[in-house]
Amino acid sequence: EILKKLLLLGMMSTINSQIDFDTASLVAGEFGIELEQKIEKTAEDILIEEAPDLEEQLQKRPPIVTIMGHVDHGKTSLLDKIRQSKVTEGEAGGITQHIGAYQVELNGEKITFIDTPGHEAFTAMRARGAQVTDIAIIVVAADDGIMPQTVEAINHAKSADVPIIVAVNKIDRPNANVQKIMQELTEHDLLPEEWGGETIVVPVSAKTGEGIDKLLEMILLVAEVQELKANPDRLAKGTIIEAQLDKGRGPVATVLVETGTLRTGDTIIAGTAYGRVRAMVNDIGQNVSEALPSQPVEVIGFSEVPVAGDILHATPADKLSKQVAEERKDKQKAEILKKMTKVSLDDLFNQI
Ligand code: GDP
Ligand code: MG
Repeated sequence: EILKKLLLLGMMSTINSQIDFDTASLVAGEFGIELEQKIEKTAEDILIEEAPDLEEQLQKRPPIVTIMGHVDHGKTSLLDKIRQSKVTEGEAGGITQHIGAYQVELNGEKITFIDTPGHEAFTAMRARGAQVTDIAIIVVAADDGIMPQTVEAINHAKSADVPIIVAVNKIDRPNANVQKIMQELTEHDLLPEEWGGETIVVPVSAKTGEGIDKLLEMILLVAEVQELKANPDRLAKGTIIEAQLDKGRGPVATVLVETGTLRTGDTIIAGTAYGRVRAMVNDIGQNVSEALPSQPVEVIGFSEVPVAGDILHATPADKLSKQVAEERKDKQKAEILKKMTKVSLDDLFNQI
Protein backbone atom coordinates (compact mmCIF):
# COMPACT_ATOMS: atom_id res chain seq x y z
CA GLU A 1 0.00 0.00 0.00
CA ILE A 2 2.79 2.38 0.89
CA LEU A 3 4.68 1.65 -2.31
CA LYS A 4 1.49 2.37 -4.25
CA LYS A 5 1.10 5.75 -2.54
CA LEU A 6 4.73 6.54 -3.29
CA LEU A 7 4.19 5.62 -6.91
CA LEU A 8 1.25 8.03 -7.03
CA LEU A 9 3.64 10.67 -5.75
CA GLY A 10 5.90 9.84 -8.66
CA MET A 11 8.41 7.86 -6.69
CA MET A 12 9.51 4.47 -7.87
CA SER A 13 10.66 2.67 -4.79
CA THR A 14 11.21 -0.75 -3.30
CA ILE A 15 10.75 -1.98 0.22
CA ASN A 16 14.40 -1.13 0.92
CA SER A 17 14.35 2.46 -0.39
CA GLN A 18 15.06 5.34 1.88
CA ILE A 19 12.67 8.27 1.82
CA ASP A 20 12.99 11.68 3.42
CA PHE A 21 10.90 12.81 6.35
CA ASP A 22 8.59 15.09 4.31
CA THR A 23 7.66 12.26 1.96
CA ALA A 24 7.22 9.83 4.83
CA SER A 25 4.90 12.16 6.70
CA LEU A 26 2.88 12.81 3.54
CA VAL A 27 2.36 9.10 2.97
CA ALA A 28 1.65 8.42 6.63
CA GLY A 29 -0.93 11.21 6.53
CA GLU A 30 -2.76 9.29 3.80
CA PHE A 31 -3.21 6.51 6.36
CA GLY A 32 -4.28 8.92 9.09
CA ILE A 33 -1.00 8.65 10.94
CA GLU A 34 0.91 11.68 12.15
CA LEU A 35 4.68 11.37 12.13
CA GLU A 36 6.99 12.98 14.62
CA GLN A 37 10.56 13.76 13.73
CA LYS A 38 13.17 12.75 16.27
CA ILE A 39 16.49 14.45 15.71
CA GLU A 40 19.39 12.35 16.86
CA LYS A 41 22.00 14.21 18.80
CA THR A 42 25.57 13.73 17.67
CA ALA A 43 28.18 12.59 20.18
CA GLU A 44 29.52 16.13 20.04
CA ASP A 45 26.11 17.57 20.98
CA ILE A 46 25.82 15.23 23.95
CA LEU A 47 29.38 15.80 25.06
CA ILE A 48 29.42 19.55 24.91
CA GLU A 49 26.05 20.63 26.18
CA GLU A 50 26.35 24.17 27.35
CA ALA A 51 23.67 24.89 29.87
CA PRO A 52 23.29 28.62 30.49
CA ASP A 53 24.59 29.85 33.84
CA LEU A 54 22.22 31.29 36.40
CA GLU A 55 22.91 34.83 37.53
CA GLU A 56 23.61 33.70 41.11
CA GLN A 57 26.22 31.20 39.93
CA LEU A 58 28.34 33.92 38.36
CA GLN A 59 31.36 35.21 40.23
CA LYS A 60 33.86 37.94 39.52
CA ARG A 61 36.87 36.75 37.53
CA PRO A 62 40.24 38.41 36.81
CA PRO A 63 40.66 40.32 33.53
CA ILE A 64 42.73 38.72 30.78
CA VAL A 65 45.15 41.20 29.26
CA THR A 66 47.19 41.06 26.04
CA ILE A 67 50.11 43.37 25.35
CA MET A 68 50.52 44.42 21.73
CA GLY A 69 52.59 46.97 19.85
CA HIS A 70 55.42 47.62 17.44
CA VAL A 71 58.59 45.54 17.61
CA ASP A 72 61.19 46.85 20.08
CA HIS A 73 58.74 49.19 21.79
CA GLY A 74 59.14 47.09 24.94
CA LYS A 75 56.36 44.46 25.10
CA THR A 76 58.60 41.71 26.45
CA SER A 77 60.38 44.07 28.84
CA LEU A 78 57.06 45.33 30.17
CA LEU A 79 55.67 41.82 30.66
CA ASP A 80 58.86 40.82 32.47
CA LYS A 81 58.88 43.90 34.68
CA ILE A 82 55.23 43.50 35.63
CA ARG A 83 55.86 39.92 36.57
CA GLN A 84 59.02 40.63 38.56
CA SER A 85 57.49 43.51 40.45
CA LYS A 86 54.25 41.75 41.27
CA VAL A 87 54.90 38.11 41.98
CA THR A 88 51.87 37.02 44.00
CA GLU A 89 52.42 37.27 47.76
CA GLY A 90 53.85 34.16 49.36
CA GLU A 91 55.62 33.22 46.18
CA ALA A 92 58.77 35.22 46.73
CA GLY A 93 61.67 33.22 45.43
CA GLY A 94 59.36 31.01 43.45
CA ILE A 95 60.77 29.96 40.13
CA THR A 96 58.80 31.69 37.42
CA GLN A 97 57.90 29.44 34.61
CA HIS A 98 57.08 30.52 31.08
CA ILE A 99 53.83 28.81 30.24
CA GLY A 100 52.42 31.45 27.91
CA ALA A 101 50.44 33.38 30.49
CA TYR A 102 50.78 34.47 34.10
CA GLN A 103 48.87 36.13 36.90
CA VAL A 104 49.85 39.00 39.15
CA GLU A 105 48.08 40.53 42.11
CA LEU A 106 47.46 44.15 43.07
CA ASN A 107 45.60 44.90 46.33
CA GLY A 108 44.28 41.34 46.39
CA GLU A 109 42.94 41.54 42.84
CA LYS A 110 44.35 39.26 40.19
CA ILE A 111 45.19 40.15 36.60
CA THR A 112 46.04 37.57 33.93
CA PHE A 113 48.59 38.49 31.28
CA ILE A 114 48.98 36.56 28.08
CA ASP A 115 52.65 36.19 27.50
CA THR A 116 52.71 34.70 24.02
CA PRO A 117 54.52 36.85 21.49
CA GLY A 118 52.65 39.91 20.35
CA HIS A 119 49.53 40.18 18.36
CA GLU A 120 50.34 37.27 16.07
CA ALA A 121 49.02 34.89 18.70
CA PHE A 122 46.09 37.21 19.30
CA THR A 123 45.23 37.27 15.61
CA ALA A 124 45.74 33.53 15.18
CA MET A 125 43.46 32.79 18.10
CA ARG A 126 40.83 35.23 16.93
CA ALA A 127 40.95 33.62 13.51
CA ARG A 128 40.10 30.34 15.24
CA GLY A 129 37.19 31.94 17.01
CA ALA A 130 38.81 32.18 20.41
CA GLN A 131 38.25 35.40 22.27
CA VAL A 132 40.83 35.37 25.03
CA THR A 133 41.37 39.02 25.74
CA ASP A 134 39.35 41.38 27.90
CA ILE A 135 41.70 44.33 27.67
CA ALA A 136 44.43 45.21 25.15
CA ILE A 137 47.50 47.16 26.22
CA ILE A 138 49.07 48.94 23.28
CA VAL A 139 52.71 49.75 23.93
CA VAL A 140 54.21 52.77 22.20
CA ALA A 141 57.82 53.81 22.77
CA ALA A 142 57.92 57.42 23.94
CA ASP A 143 61.12 58.06 21.99
CA ASP A 144 59.70 56.67 18.77
CA GLY A 145 56.04 56.96 17.85
CA ILE A 146 53.12 55.17 16.30
CA MET A 147 54.50 52.67 13.82
CA PRO A 148 52.83 50.27 11.33
CA GLN A 149 52.51 47.44 13.86
CA THR A 150 51.07 49.87 16.41
CA VAL A 151 48.34 50.74 13.94
CA GLU A 152 47.74 47.03 13.27
CA ALA A 153 47.47 46.38 16.99
CA ILE A 154 45.00 49.25 17.41
CA ASN A 155 42.91 47.88 14.55
CA HIS A 156 42.94 44.35 15.97
CA ALA A 157 41.81 45.56 19.36
CA LYS A 158 39.10 47.70 17.80
CA SER A 159 37.74 44.95 15.59
CA ALA A 160 37.71 42.56 18.56
CA ASP A 161 35.79 45.24 20.46
CA VAL A 162 38.28 45.10 23.32
CA PRO A 163 38.98 48.20 25.42
CA ILE A 164 42.41 49.72 24.83
CA ILE A 165 44.84 51.11 27.37
CA VAL A 166 47.90 52.80 25.90
CA ALA A 167 51.19 52.34 27.75
CA VAL A 168 53.69 54.95 26.60
CA ASN A 169 56.92 53.15 27.39
CA LYS A 170 60.58 54.15 27.77
CA ILE A 171 59.78 57.43 29.52
CA ASP A 172 63.19 57.12 31.22
CA ARG A 173 64.83 57.90 27.89
CA PRO A 174 66.07 61.50 27.52
CA ASN A 175 64.35 61.98 24.18
CA ALA A 176 60.99 60.62 25.41
CA ASN A 177 58.08 62.78 24.31
CA VAL A 178 54.73 61.68 25.76
CA GLN A 179 52.86 64.68 24.36
CA LYS A 180 53.95 63.81 20.83
CA ILE A 181 52.67 60.23 21.27
CA MET A 182 49.33 61.54 22.55
CA GLN A 183 49.08 63.78 19.51
CA GLU A 184 49.68 60.78 17.25
CA LEU A 185 47.09 58.74 19.14
CA THR A 186 44.40 61.31 18.40
CA GLU A 187 45.17 60.80 14.72
CA HIS A 188 44.10 57.19 15.20
CA ASP A 189 40.84 57.95 16.96
CA LEU A 190 42.27 57.41 20.41
CA LEU A 191 41.72 60.69 22.23
CA PRO A 192 43.54 60.63 25.59
CA GLU A 193 41.44 61.17 28.75
CA GLU A 194 43.68 64.09 29.65
CA TRP A 195 42.51 65.82 26.52
CA GLY A 196 38.86 65.09 27.16
CA GLY A 197 38.75 61.75 25.38
CA GLU A 198 38.13 58.21 26.57
CA THR A 199 41.49 56.55 26.02
CA ILE A 200 43.51 55.82 29.13
CA VAL A 201 47.16 56.64 28.50
CA VAL A 202 49.74 55.62 31.10
CA PRO A 203 53.39 56.70 30.81
CA VAL A 204 55.62 53.83 31.98
CA SER A 205 59.19 52.60 32.00
CA ALA A 206 59.82 48.90 31.75
CA LYS A 207 63.38 49.71 32.78
CA THR A 208 62.81 51.62 36.01
CA GLY A 209 59.34 50.31 36.80
CA GLU A 210 57.87 53.80 36.90
CA GLY A 211 54.15 53.87 36.13
CA ILE A 212 53.65 50.12 36.33
CA ASP A 213 51.43 50.23 39.42
CA LYS A 214 49.39 52.95 37.76
CA LEU A 215 49.03 50.76 34.66
CA LEU A 216 47.82 47.82 36.77
CA GLU A 217 45.37 50.10 38.61
CA MET A 218 43.96 51.27 35.29
CA ILE A 219 43.56 47.67 34.14
CA LEU A 220 41.58 46.86 37.29
CA LEU A 221 39.49 49.99 36.81
CA VAL A 222 38.54 49.04 33.25
CA ALA A 223 37.88 45.45 34.39
CA GLU A 224 35.58 46.73 37.14
CA VAL A 225 33.46 48.51 34.54
CA GLN A 226 33.38 45.39 32.35
CA GLU A 227 31.97 43.33 35.26
CA LEU A 228 33.79 40.20 34.13
CA LYS A 229 32.13 37.12 35.53
CA ALA A 230 32.20 33.35 35.19
CA ASN A 231 30.67 30.32 36.86
CA PRO A 232 33.32 28.30 38.70
CA ASP A 233 30.80 25.54 39.53
CA ARG A 234 30.67 23.81 36.18
CA LEU A 235 32.85 21.74 33.90
CA ALA A 236 35.67 23.87 32.58
CA LYS A 237 35.84 25.49 29.19
CA GLY A 238 39.03 27.20 28.11
CA THR A 239 41.44 28.02 25.32
CA ILE A 240 44.72 26.42 24.38
CA ILE A 241 47.31 29.21 24.55
CA GLU A 242 50.40 27.16 23.73
CA ALA A 243 51.16 23.50 23.22
CA GLN A 244 54.15 21.34 22.53
CA LEU A 245 55.47 17.83 22.81
CA ASP A 246 57.65 17.46 25.87
CA LYS A 247 60.20 14.66 25.84
CA GLY A 248 59.45 13.43 29.31
CA ARG A 249 55.85 14.48 29.83
CA GLY A 250 54.31 13.98 26.41
CA PRO A 251 51.87 16.54 24.98
CA VAL A 252 51.79 19.63 27.22
CA ALA A 253 49.40 22.52 26.70
CA THR A 254 48.81 25.79 28.47
CA VAL A 255 45.12 26.26 29.01
CA LEU A 256 43.50 29.52 29.96
CA VAL A 257 40.31 28.61 31.78
CA GLU A 258 37.45 30.78 30.63
CA THR A 259 34.65 29.41 32.75
CA GLY A 260 34.20 26.54 35.19
CA THR A 261 36.94 24.88 37.20
CA LEU A 262 39.41 22.47 35.62
CA ARG A 263 40.47 19.65 37.93
CA THR A 264 42.98 16.85 37.81
CA GLY A 265 41.21 13.69 36.71
CA ASP A 266 38.79 15.59 34.44
CA THR A 267 38.11 14.13 31.01
CA ILE A 268 39.07 16.70 28.40
CA ILE A 269 38.87 17.35 24.69
CA ALA A 270 40.48 20.11 22.60
CA GLY A 271 40.18 19.85 18.84
CA THR A 272 41.27 16.32 17.98
CA ALA A 273 43.20 15.86 21.23
CA TYR A 274 41.50 14.22 24.18
CA GLY A 275 42.46 12.59 27.43
CA ARG A 276 42.41 13.13 31.17
CA VAL A 277 44.10 15.81 33.20
CA ARG A 278 46.99 13.86 34.71
CA ALA A 279 48.69 16.86 36.26
CA MET A 280 48.52 20.65 36.19
CA VAL A 281 51.30 23.14 36.80
CA ASN A 282 50.67 26.84 37.47
CA ASP A 283 52.67 29.86 36.26
CA ILE A 284 55.16 29.60 39.11
CA GLY A 285 55.87 25.93 38.63
CA GLN A 286 53.66 24.53 41.38
CA ASN A 287 51.51 21.46 40.94
CA VAL A 288 47.87 22.35 41.36
CA SER A 289 44.74 20.24 41.46
CA GLU A 290 42.36 22.88 40.16
CA ALA A 291 42.34 25.93 37.93
CA LEU A 292 39.70 28.67 38.26
CA PRO A 293 38.27 31.05 35.64
CA SER A 294 40.95 33.28 34.03
CA GLN A 295 43.71 31.09 35.47
CA PRO A 296 46.42 29.77 33.15
CA VAL A 297 47.73 26.25 33.79
CA GLU A 298 49.89 23.78 32.01
CA VAL A 299 47.95 20.60 31.44
CA ILE A 300 49.45 17.16 30.99
CA GLY A 301 47.42 14.20 29.78
CA PHE A 302 46.43 14.85 26.15
CA SER A 303 46.47 12.06 23.56
CA GLU A 304 48.24 14.37 21.12
CA VAL A 305 49.44 17.98 20.99
CA PRO A 306 46.44 20.31 20.65
CA VAL A 307 46.58 23.45 18.51
CA ALA A 308 46.87 26.95 19.99
CA GLY A 309 43.48 28.57 19.75
CA ASP A 310 41.57 25.30 20.13
CA ILE A 311 38.76 25.33 22.65
CA LEU A 312 39.12 22.93 25.55
CA HIS A 313 36.12 21.31 27.17
CA ALA A 314 36.07 19.21 30.30
CA THR A 315 33.42 16.59 29.67
CA PRO A 316 31.32 14.23 31.73
CA ALA A 317 31.67 11.11 29.59
CA ASP A 318 34.92 9.30 29.13
CA LYS A 319 34.33 7.27 26.00
CA LEU A 320 32.47 9.98 24.14
CA SER A 321 35.41 12.37 24.12
CA LYS A 322 37.50 9.82 22.26
CA GLN A 323 34.66 9.27 19.81
CA VAL A 324 34.19 12.98 19.22
CA ALA A 325 37.93 13.53 18.80
CA GLU A 326 37.98 10.77 16.21
CA GLU A 327 34.93 12.18 14.41
CA ARG A 328 36.64 15.55 14.28
CA LYS A 329 39.77 13.95 12.90
CA ASP A 330 37.77 12.18 10.16
CA LYS A 331 36.13 15.49 9.30
CA GLN A 332 39.53 17.19 9.09
CA LYS A 333 40.84 14.45 6.84
CA ALA A 334 37.79 14.70 4.59
CA GLU A 335 38.28 18.46 4.33
CA ILE A 336 41.95 18.11 3.47
CA LEU A 337 41.08 15.49 0.88
CA LYS A 338 38.42 17.76 -0.60
CA LYS A 339 40.92 20.60 -0.86
CA MET A 340 43.52 18.32 -2.41
CA THR A 341 41.08 17.06 -5.00
CA LYS A 342 40.02 20.56 -5.83
CA VAL A 343 43.60 21.69 -6.21
CA SER A 344 44.54 18.81 -8.46
CA LEU A 345 41.47 19.37 -10.66
CA ASP A 346 42.32 23.06 -10.95
CA ASP A 347 45.88 22.12 -11.80
CA LEU A 348 44.59 19.79 -14.46
CA PHE A 349 42.48 22.54 -16.02
CA ASN A 350 45.42 24.90 -15.93
CA GLN A 351 47.53 22.36 -17.74
CA ILE A 352 44.92 21.91 -20.41
P1 GDP B 1 59.49 44.07 22.14
O1 GDP B 1 60.05 43.77 20.80
O2 GDP B 1 58.31 44.99 22.04
O3 GDP B 1 59.22 42.87 22.96
O4 GDP B 1 60.60 44.95 22.89
P2 GDP B 1 61.66 44.50 23.98
O5 GDP B 1 61.02 44.33 25.31
O6 GDP B 1 62.46 43.38 23.46
O7 GDP B 1 62.54 45.83 24.08
C1 GDP B 1 63.31 46.32 23.01
C2 GDP B 1 64.49 47.09 23.54
O8 GDP B 1 64.07 48.24 24.27
C3 GDP B 1 65.35 46.28 24.51
O9 GDP B 1 66.69 46.58 24.28
C4 GDP B 1 64.92 46.80 25.88
O10 GDP B 1 65.95 46.69 26.83
C5 GDP B 1 64.58 48.23 25.59
N1 GDP B 1 63.56 48.75 26.50
C6 GDP B 1 62.33 48.24 26.70
N2 GDP B 1 61.64 48.98 27.57
C7 GDP B 1 62.45 50.01 27.93
C8 GDP B 1 62.31 51.14 28.81
O11 GDP B 1 61.28 51.36 29.45
N3 GDP B 1 63.38 52.00 28.89
C9 GDP B 1 64.52 51.79 28.20
N4 GDP B 1 65.49 52.69 28.35
N5 GDP B 1 64.69 50.76 27.38
C10 GDP B 1 63.67 49.86 27.24
MG1 MG C 1 59.33 40.86 22.47
